[in-house]
Amino acid sequence: MDKYQLIEKLIREGYIRRKEVAEAMLKVPREEFVPEELRPYAYEDRPLPIGRGQTISAPHMVAYMIEAAGVKRGDKVLEIGTGSGYNAAVLAEIVGPEGKVYTIERIRELAEKAKERLEKLGYGNRVKVFVGDGSKGLPQFAPFDKIIVTAAAKEIPMELVEQLKPGGVMVIPVEDWGGQVLLRVIKGKDGKVIVERLLPVMFVPLLSGTEE
Ligand code: SAM
Repeated sequence: MDKYQLIEKLIREGYIRRKEVAEAMLKVPREEFVPEELRPYAYEDRPLPIGRGQTISAPHMVAYMIEAAGVKRGDKVLEIGTGSGYNAAVLAEIVGPEGKVYTIERIRELAEKAKERLEKLGYGNRVKVFVGDGSKGLPQFAPFDKIIVTAAAKEIPMELVEQLKPGGVMVIPVEDWGGQVLLRVIKGKDGKVIVERLLPVMFVPLLSGTEE
């Protein structure tokens, strides 16, 4: 499959619903975010290993989470789980120069590689990469319009809910009866929180602490 066939498929299957998401995913070269030997598979709709036991998420999941959160131009977005940096680059395309993407990774080696790639591809001033335990968020840069968590938590981290703006949305996979479910957490303008169950998913676990 090539890039155009992949995006067409994601539109047909309903994962991509907005033009700006399609355009962003067409712009970001996914082959730059996977190991060299896996480049021929960069536009297959599946996760791929990126080293250290971690993965770059499948393109349909990247699209689905961005659509579910409703990420738009000008948003200030926090991503937990930088991994390869691919999702952060797609987010950067969508938020545009008026927005900002903060992304945290607990494995320093992955964070450094992602930062280097993002800079090389021109996303350096729109995406800030941090090494740390993302379950605590980035209180010094809060509040955020949107939070996207790309590793599965045991339960919804309250620190992250606190770092959402009123009217903000978080999309997060959490453990659920031996499996995982993707949740949408909506913080109302009055501060009230609504949790919606979206679909069963399979992510690597959200772990505490950091690793070199
Ligand atoms: N968004 C990534 C991409 O576009 O390549 C894919 C992320 S991968 C499915 C999940 C990542 O979350 C892994 O790199 C893992 O090391 C990281 N992770 C797990 N627990 C974390 C935590 N508490 N804080 C930050 N990152 C974490």
